[in-house]
Amino acid sequence: MGRKRIVIVGTSFAGYTAALELKELVGDNHDITVIANTHQFLFFPSLIWYPFGLREEKDITFDVRPIYKSHGIEFLEQEVSGFLPAENKVLLKEGEPVSYDYLLIGTGPKVDYDYIPGLREHSHSIVGLAVAERTRLAWNKFLEDPGPVVIASAQGAACFGAAYEFLFNVRYQIAKHKLQEKASLTYLTAEPFAAHFGIGGFGNAQKMCEWMFSHYHIGTHLNASIKEVKADGVLLESGEFYPSKFTMVMPRFLGVDAVRNTPGLANTNGFLEVDDSYQHPQYPNLYAAGVAVHVKPPGQTPVPCGVPKTGYPTEQMAKTAVRNIVADIKGLPKQHAKFDDMSAYCIMDTGNMGMIIVGDHMLSPREHEFIIPGPEAHWAKVAFEKYFLWSRRHAHV
Ligand SMILES: Cc1cc2nc3c(=O)[nH]c(=O)nc-3n(C[C@H](O)[C@H](O)[C@H](O)COP(=O)(O)OP(=O)(O)OC[C@H]3O[C@@H](n4cnc5c(N)ncnc54)[C@H](O)[C@@H]3O)c2cc1C
Repeated sequence: MGRKRIVIVGTSFAGYTAALELKELVGDNHDITVIANTHQFLFFPSLIWYPFGLREEKDITFDVRPIYKSHGIEFLEQEVSGFLPAENKVLLKEGEPVSYDYLLIGTGPKVDYDYIPGLREHSHSIVGLAVAERTRLAWNKFLEDPGPVVIASAQGAACFGAAYEFLFNVRYQIAKHKLQEKASLTYLTAEPFAAHFGIGGFGNAQKMCEWMFSHYHIGTHLNASIKEVKADGVLLESGEFYPSKFTMVMPRFLGVDAVRNTPGLANTNGFLEVDDSYQHPQYPNLYAAGVAVHVKPPGQTPVPCGVPKTGYPTEQMAKTAVRNIVADIKGLPKQHAKFDDMSAYCIMDTGNMGMIIVGDHMLSPREHEFIIPGPEAHWAKVAFEKYFLWSRRHAHV
């Protein structure tokens, strides 16, 4: 067994987890290289609070470079432009291709701002730091001249949890600023019922969300397909128009260009169709984890809904993938971790309250599924944020 070079692309929930887990497993026996277009780890879940000035960049990010250095992991801050899987090469936008013996792709999503007219120009977003910063400016402007608000999960969206959290946080902020008279709130969603979440629902979350919609006077439109986002509102394919002075839309995700543009690597949306060992069917030395991976929706919905690949399953996929890379190197049996069967852990924040969501499986059927609503859920989310960032920032050897 010679020395191998294992390359990981991405340094977030999938890539960062994979790199540290792999180092733990192989020590100094093999070479690990991480390539990413940023040296920053961003804790995405906190972006629901960013537009309201409740978090700053320094609170929710950290620099991965010193951590990799202390572990003896090579880090290349480079934009990957494509892959040559038959030649075991990663192509860089600038510089020579990087060769590998094993590759793990953890490149997450490309946010599709172009499939709905007006989405890019007239709606706000929280799916990255730069867009959340623009959303903060727009929110501050909105507070000076309030009016109706529309929050939407568009057709094909998958990140429903974050849309719900933002919706309920907006509700909380409207109440805090005593703007209820001026700022009506409407949630438009591709989901067939409230709290479907792209996973076919979870326990009694539907009833709880319906209660919150009615209690807080939030209008809803289910099975919504957005035709156009305009400067003054959202037009649905069904013809209804919802006026809005502040519009946030959760769009659909695609695979990143580097993956989507590599022939034979991914499906037409750019997601890698790996098996439940996270290995590519055509290229056995290629693995993938996280949002980059295709997960089949649990059933058809009248309007397409994607499956959310949240933080916990992303880390499980990454750990499974690197254990299988090690198994391949050592000629050991493979591990399997089907997405549907992974445990579900999530905390949905609603501003000053929330719901702790725990289940034995991501997708139905589940034997155990619990939802614990209340103010403790908000504090649990804040505590988890602090714990997560502290533990990942201090992952030095
Ligand atoms: C607003 C919001 C709130 C969320 N809240 C929660 C929550 O409460 N709980 C939860 O469990 N999950 C939540 N999620 C989901 C969670 O953020 C994702 O599960 C997680 O980010 C997926 O990790 P990933 O590593 O697959 O992809 P990403 O986090 O997107 O990381 C992709 C990595 O690849 C790199 N990369 C991409 N393209 C290239 C390229 N061409 N070249 C080089 N590098 C590249 C990026 O720089 C990055 O390092 C939330 C997501 C959002 C957007």
